Amino acid sequence: MDTMTPEQRSNCMRRIRSKNTRPEMLVRRFLFSHGFRYRIHAKTLPGTPDITIVGLRTCIFINGCFWHGHESCSIYKLPQTHVEFWTHKIQRNKQRDQENRLALKRQGWHTIEIWECQLKPKERERTLQGLLRTLNFIALQNCGAKISYHYDEEETLSLAAEDE
Ligand SMILES: [Zn+2]
Repeated sequence: MDTMTPEQRSNCMRRIRSKNTRPEMLVRRFLFSHGFRYRIHAKTLPGTPDITIVGLRTCIFINGCFWHGHESCSIYKLPQTHVEFWTHKIQRNKQRDQENRLALKRQGWHTIEIWECQLKPKERERTLQGLLRTLNFIALQNCGAKISYHYDEEETLSLAAEDE
């Protein structure tokens, strides 16, 4: 990566927004097979979350370890040249991630982050089971909230329509 031409680098930069990556597909297939239905790359939400489970008001981000600066991770290792450039670039990505998370939280969304390295074959099963537990927990919480805030079926339905 240290020997990249400007052109290669700009190709590389574009890939930060890349969609439908292998780690992302893994998570999507897993969720689908467990009965979750979701939207992908919802542009109307801060940060265009990779996966949005509207019913659970939950956004899932699947982060590449390098681009999103996963701390103390072997995949996130800065190139030896243009150190300043890369440090700045990745810090900015991290800051943007944090701003998006906050914005989502303010709008009442749960956010879940999954790192690329957590989906490597050795870690995958544990990560996905953890995700399942978290989603079940959120479902229980939301269920409690629904009982206290919504009075009838109709109101719940119109709220759901608004989310669409
Ligand atoms: Zn990582």
